[in-house]
Amino acid sequence: MKWLLLIAVLVAVALLATRGIWRGPTDRAPPPPAARISADCEGPAEFAEAARANARDFAGLPWAPFGVEERGWDAYAPVIAREVGTDCAPDSPGFAAALARWQAGQKLPATGRVDAASFEKMRVAWMLRRPFVIATRQGQCPQAPAEATLAQARPEEGYWRKPVQLRPAALEAYRKLVAAARRDVPDLAADPELLTIVSGYRNPQADAARCAAAGNCGGPARANCSAHLTGLATDLYVGAAPGQDPTSSTDTNRSFQAQTRLYAWMARNAERFGFVGYPYEPWHWEWTGEPVTP
Ligand SMILES: [Zn+2]
Repeated sequence: MKWLLLIAVLVAVALLATRGIWRGPTDRAPPPPAARISADCEGPAEFAEAARANARDFAGLPWAPFGVEERGWDAYAPVIAREVGTDCAPDSPGFAAALARWQAGQKLPATGRVDAASFEKMRVAWMLRRPFVIATRQGQCPQAPAEATLAQARPEEGYWRKPVQLRPAALEAYRKLVAAARRDVPDLAADPELLTIVSGYRNPQADAARCAAAGNCGGPARANCSAHLTGLATDLYVGAAPGQDPTSSTDTNRSFQAQTRLYAWMARNAERFGFVGYPYEPWHWEWTGEPVTP
């Protein structure tokens, strides 16, 4: 009789398990999604109108926050979200509410709308987090390090195995950032080129000659003094719009990059590894762990 009882118990357990009534300890249902975040994001109701306006402007706002005509604030959504401390979607009332809290703290009208005045405050703050910008404010250009002191990245760390040099400590910091991103962002496993280095140290004379020849110096700043001469600046592959160069500054490309999970992660986490970005170029990241002039 014992074996009959045993079979009955096993059948009962199997039935309950297939119906999801009883689960073993290893296949327990995952915890419910972060209800607090979604609830916060759907309200408060007073920010519904601001959220609608933000949604309209997201891809439509005509402006030139970096001195170049562009459309929409979508390319900046991840860095704005980080700045105002929200995980909510850019078109949600929760996002607008977080922005309004930030605006109030900045003594700006707390509208919850992404507007030029609020963006300008953020833009200035972002620029001032870049030691290179501080170092060049008086018009002087930092010195490049002696090339013999630079470290060579491993071939697979270069975008399509392109040779790349950086200051040794900057390369170490880059490797720590990539290791963390690999743990957190599944897209990196699917595309091994992601976060490879498109450009690191650039010899200032060669850089000036190259951009002059190509007619794309982007103004005298780059022709005479690029952040890449410091050995601290990197252009990282954060994806590219179909058919576009990974460092193309078209609206299409920058908007595409800003919508990737990798860029959202970078906006939120790169600073933990000492990297600050230049939000007009989602690919450009500067390491801040050493003085700009060696
Ligand atoms: Zn760059």
